[in-house]
Amino acid sequence: MLSNCLKGEISRFLTGLLGVALAGFVLGFPAICALIYLTGYVFWLLRRMDNMVRWLDSGAKPANAPQTTGLTDEMIQLIHREKKYSRKQRNRYRGMLAQFNSLAADLPDATVVLDRDFEIRWSNSAAQRLLNIDPEKDRGQRIDNLVRLPKFREFLHNNSDEEELEIPSSSIGDRIMAIRKVPTGKHMTVLIAADITQRVQVREMRKAFVGDVSHELRTPLTVIRGYLEMLRENESLDEQMKQGLDQVTAQSDRMRGIVEDLLQLSKMEGNPLAENEGDTLNMGAMIQTMVHTLGESTESHEFILELDSTLALVGSEREIYSACHNLLTNAVRYTDPGSTIRVSWQQSADGEAVYSVADNGHGIEARHLSRLSERFYRVDAGRSRDDGGTGLGLAIVKHAAQRHGGLLSINSTPGSGSVFTITFPPARVLPLQLAANQ
Ligand code: ADP
Repeated sequence: MLSNCLKGEISRFLTGLLGVALAGFVLGFPAICALIYLTGYVFWLLRRMDNMVRWLDSGAKPANAPQTTGLTDEMIQLIHREKKYSRKQRNRYRGMLAQFNSLAADLPDATVVLDRDFEIRWSNSAAQRLLNIDPEKDRGQRIDNLVRLPKFREFLHNNSDEEELEIPSSSIGDRIMAIRKVPTGKHMTVLIAADITQRVQVREMRKAFVGDVSHELRTPLTVIRGYLEMLRENESLDEQMKQGLDQVTAQSDRMRGIVEDLLQLSKMEGNPLAENEGDTLNMGAMIQTMVHTLGESTESHEFILELDSTLALVGSEREIYSACHNLLTNAVRYTDPGSTIRVSWQQSADGEAVYSVADNGHGIEARHLSRLSERFYRVDAGRSRDDGGTGLGLAIVKHAAQRHGGLLSINSTPGSGSVFTITFPPARVLPLQLAANQ
């Protein structure tokens, strides 16, 4: 389908051609007249086009638009309309950008947009306050040249976007920031840094408080335990009194257990070990002894061991022992007699060391799984207490794993059993022979 303006252009051309051809007939040279007309028309068309190109080249201002007709006139009208529309759009985007800039500038959190080479594309005024990044002067600079902390550089290159990094503010002396990375667009990253000084202070206060209280409770509990022992040795006590004393002793032991666990937790929480800190642990032998001792005290369970005895772990013996032992005792306590417990210590294909304890007990419903490692969270509080549980076992396992750069994961199917797994990073794993030669 031809457009109206092209139809108009063609009809104008044909009318002209007809007129010139008639005149040619009268003069006796119709073909020559038509050829001259054709050449003239093409030249006129090219001239109009050339005027347009020049006008477009000079910025296509409406005031300078060439006087023209037909197809070229229609094109000029279209360009006018298009320019008007894009001007309107531009103004809209400008308004939106100004609004976004003033909003982002007022954000309390520092926001920095980085390109694929971690060069700063944009930052807000909070970034100046917290990270000392000038929104104008530092544009185009690599951010790790401005925030020069090794753990920040590591965080930047780390592919995990879930992590949060806590670092001191580069511009305000005693403030602490939590930095998060949000990947966006094509190879772009947004860094968001929030001032968490108050949150950290509250956390530290809570830690110190729990640590202090637990510490203070230790001595009176030891004294109470001593007197209880003395009283229980008294032969003259009647049966009722003896039973009462046994109960008080059991409760004071439970309290001591809680106090010891709380103390251990407050020491571990938010306090990762340095990269190579710790002893070289012969995990195979440690787990075997643990299972042997536990098996002797509870003959009711069958243990299957899959231990790689050549695999050593670098870490704190006390914490690793406690974590491994907690998972084993839980597997015994929360399964029925006759259950099978599979204990494994192996290296995965990507070099991580994996300790796992799998049982074929009743399992745990999915809704509890994410909360199991919270302090004092229990699926069945009554059963846990009766079995001497403090409700802190899995919290200790989680923090001990985290202190070693590891991770606790829990899988469970109600009716089939549970698998508790601690995964340690390759940096903490050594072949035992190599460890022995070191
Ligand atoms: P507790 O001292 O109560 O055992 P934990 O932190 O070790 O505290 O465990 C938290 C809860 O997780 C337990 O109360 C129990 O309900 C559940 N749990 C732990 N291990 C198992 C297991 N192997 N099978 C089923 N439930 C378990």
